[in-house]
Order: sequence, then C-alpha cells, then structure tokens
Amino acid sequence: MTYDFDLYVIGAGSGGVRAARFSAGFGAKVAVAESRYLGGTCVNVGCVPKKLLVYGAHFCDEFEHSKGFGWTPGDTKFEWATLIANKDREINRLNGIYRDLLANSGVTLHEGHAKIVDPHTVEINGERHTARNILITTGGWPQTPEIPGHEHAISSNQAFFLKELPKRVLVVGGGYIAVEFAGIFHGLGAETTLLYRGDLFLRGFDGTVRKHLQEELSKRGINLQFNANIERIDKQADGSLKATLKDGLQLEADCVFYATGRRPMLDNLGLENTGVKLDKKGFVEVDELYQTAEPSILALGDVIGRVQLTPVALAEGMAVARRLFKPEQYRPVDYKMIPTAVFSQPDIGTVGLTEEEAREAGYEVVIFESRFRPMKLSLTECQERTLMKLVVDAKTDKVLGCHMVGPEAGEIVQGLAIALKSGATKRDFDDTIAVHPTSAEEFVTMRTPVAG
Ligand code: FAD
Ligand code: NDP
Repeated sequence: MTYDFDLYVIGAGSGGVRAARFSAGFGAKVAVAESRYLGGTCVNVGCVPKKLLVYGAHFCDEFEHSKGFGWTPGDTKFEWATLIANKDREINRLNGIYRDLLANSGVTLHEGHAKIVDPHTVEINGERHTARNILITTGGWPQTPEIPGHEHAISSNQAFFLKELPKRVLVVGGGYIAVEFAGIFHGLGAETTLLYRGDLFLRGFDGTVRKHLQEELSKRGINLQFNANIERIDKQADGSLKATLKDGLQLEADCVFYATGRRPMLDNLGLENTGVKLDKKGFVEVDELYQTAEPSILALGDVIGRVQLTPVALAEGMAVARRLFKPEQYRPVDYKMIPTAVFSQPDIGTVGLTEEEAREAGYEVVIFESRFRPMKLSLTECQERTLMKLVVDAKTDKVLGCHMVGPEAGEIVQGLAIALKSGATKRDFDDTIAVHPTSAEEFVTMRTPVAG
C-alpha cells in the first residue's frame, strides 16, 4: 500500500512541529495540519506571551528599587494596549519563523481543521490525505467548571487579548497559570485576589517553597484566599462582576480569570473512526513509544496528559521522529529530573524530588535551607527574601532535589538540573567554587542541615 505521506501530524504546536521537522530531516514525507496558529499554545497563548507579560510586570519593582541606587524615576505610566500590541507583533514574527522552519525542512503545511476519517486517512479543507502513520499533537484547552455565570469569566486564552487591564481581578486556581497571572495582573497595577480551593496553592511543589511563596505574595499585596471557591458569577448593571463564594462571601471584580487546568483538545478529531483509547482523565492513552491502541496512530505532548511542558513535548516529538525514521538514534525520554519554573514574582525554580516526595519514597533525607535578602535589595526598602533548599539522600549523599524561590530561579535551576541528572552529591556541591557575589552561590555554600 502506498500513502500520500509517511507521517501526517495533526497540530503544529511544540511537539508537532518538532516531530514533523525532524522526521522530514530524516528523509520522511511529512505533512502537518494546523487549525489556529503556528507554534501552538506555547508561542501564541502560553509560555512566550506569558513571559513577555511577566517581564512587563517586573518594571514597577525596578522603578521602586532604583530609588535606593540614587535614581529618581520620572513620571512612570503603564499602557496595557502598548504591551499587548508589541507582544502581538513579536508573536506574529515567531509565527513567521515557524512557517519558514516547516517550509525549509520540506514539511507540507495544511492550514485548517484536520479530522481523522480512518486509521490512515485525514480530512482537511474537504480533501483527504493518506499516511502510513498519523501523529496526534493537538495539545490542550482551558477547562473551567460550569458554575452559573461561568460565561462571564475568562481563561488564559482571552487574557492575552484583553482590550484593557482590569482594575480588579479575581484569579481562580492554584496551579502554574493562576499564580503566574496573579503576579502579572498585580505587577501591572490591578487589585488582585487569588482564590484557591485547597489549603495552600501549588500542590505537588515542595511544602517549604509553597509556604515561602505564599508569604512573599502576601507581602506584595496579592490577596490570597485559600479554601475558597466561587459558586456563581453575576454581571451587575455597571458591567462589573459579582462573585459569590461557597461560604456566601461576595467579591466584586472587573474580571474573573479561571486557571483550573487544561483538558486534551480532541474536538471533532474523529477518534471514533479509530481504535484510539482514552485514559481515565480523558487524555489519549499511549504506551512508552507514544503508540495509541490504533497501530498506525501515535500521540504526544499535552494531549497525552503526562507532563504539560513545552520542553517535554519537544523531547517526545524528537523521540517519535527518531523511532519512526532514525531508529538507530532512538533514545527514550527520561521523565526523571525535569526542571521547571513558575514565573511568579518572585519565581520558583525546582528540579528533582520535593522533601515530601523523598520521604514518601522511603529516603532518609538531610535538608539544607537558606533564606536571605538578595544583595540587590540591600539598598532598597523591599523586604523580599529568597529561599534555597536542597534535599539530600543521607545514605548516598546524592542531591535528590533543588528548590528555589527568588529572582531568576528558573535560570539558576537549569544549570543545577544538569548536576542532578549527572548524579551530583552534596559533596560535589560543596567542592564547587562559588561565583561571587551572586544569589546562586548559596547553593554551594549551605553547610548546616536544618533537618534530618
Ligand atoms: P500545543 O502547543 O497546544 O499545540 C497543539 C496545536 O494543535 C495547536 O496549535 C492547535 O491549534 C492545533 N490543533 C488542535 N486540534 C487540531 C485539529 N483538529 N486540526 C489541526 N490543528 C489542531 N510550558 C512551559 O514549558 N513553560 C511555560 O512557561 C509555559 N507556560 C504556559 C503558559 C500558559 C498560559 C499555558 C496555557 C501553557 C504554558 N505552558 C508552558 C505549557 C505549554 O504551552 C504546553 O505544554 C505545550 O504548548 C504543549 O505542546 P503540544 O505540542 O502538546 O500542544
Ligand atoms: P494546573 O493543573 O497546574 O492547576 C490547576 C489548578 O486549578 C489547581 O490548583 C487545581 O486545584 C485547580 N482546580 C482544578 N479544578 C478546579 C475547580 N473545579 N475549581 C477550583 N479549582 C480547580 O493547571 P493550570 O491551568 O495552572 O496549567 C496547566 C498546565 O500548563 C500546568 O500544569 C503546566 O504543566 C503548564 N504550565 C506550565 C507553566 C510553566 O512551565 N511555567 C506555566 C503555565 C502552565 P487542586 O490542586 O486542588 O487540584
């Protein structure tokens, strides 16, 4: 049987583009379908525009801190419309780069909604294309609880395109997106409340880190309401919103922003025409080779619901391209020691096991912690403190986890991730000469355990 393509990729996001480009580079005939935006979530409504808004939100701190260094900042004023227009221009530029990347690697791009009509055929814009393999990389979509009035709320998809900065924002959720956007809105000048249904946000992160960030965000003036959830949202005559919480408390806002997780994007994908199975949470079920229950169909990235991060989707895309078209170079993705950052203010950087995970796994742990006021703040009024924490295996001396809350935590943890992946011990950390004066040096100068 001959096919139009060796590989038909549905979704030109992080994972799809990586798999398509490398497969084509290995000599395969590849097509990719994209219904919305080249580069997917990360480039258009995720990592990239989010980080640009985070940068924007940092300036108010910088203006304030500059006073301690002798500066008198002028009449500072923030214009949301300018930030959004400049962000849109940059995203357009990146969309163009993605288009060129695909074209230059010989991938055929089909722009439109793709539907699988049988295990080897995809329909798009009224045309059918056959392929030996189909790869589903359709990503995810914000998921919001359908409470009365939920239509008045927005998700991250809309937040990037608001016409103006709301004066009062209620952010619902306690994951990455909620914490990052609470920081963005607050930093840009909105009165911000974060509502989380549990005792403490960022479930799954190290307990000391979660507590430290709670203290820092509260110090900054973000109103943190835990054990709180909205029961209904009503639009008022003046256009503002009234949120009634489950305990009866009522809060007024100009914007209610839900960041309550993401579901797999499978809308009208035609999975019913295949043997593809979904897992208990509704994500596409795959084995360790990203193979679905339908032999010709693979899936990776957010749609399989493992680790919803761009670098993970990229690694999975690479693994699939190699497995299909360059098997001699195939290496499985290693899901251990994935470093990650939450771009809150201050940010979190983390790699490896949390103290809780390490104890749960039966390790006898030694904990090192350092809390300090970064030197950059010493001439300012700002009382923000940085936290660094190491979780060490008492038996082998291996560093099991590094955690940080403080400026540039993501940047710092990327380097530490290499050390941890290489099996570094606490002794290796101690024997490493510091870079002075930096905050990062604290990771190699912690000598006295705080807990064993
Ligand atoms: P996506 O990038 O979502 O790509 C899927 C593509 O498929 C989309 O372009 C979609 O339009 C297309 N598509 C869907 N259905 C069809 C169809 N039927 N036909 C044709 N095309 C279709 N990760 C990080 O690592 N760091 C961050 O800082 C970070 N920040 C984030 C911030 C936000 C607000 C969000 C929402 C996510 C963030 N993420 C971050 C997560 C990251 O964006 C995702 O993990 C990553 O984009 C997943 O890549 P993917 O290839 O699986 O899917
Ligand atoms: P997360 O899964 O991280 O967090 C969802 C949050 O919403 C949790 O706090 C959860 O609470 C809460 N929640 C879920 N359902 C409800 C409900 N019905 N009512 C109230 N609260 C609810 O999802 P996000 O949307 O924040 O982000 C999606 C993913 O995108 C992240 O997991 C991450 O993988 C990726 N991402 C990565 C970023 C980065 O790398 N910096 C930035 C942004 C996103 P509970 O904990 O109690 O379940």
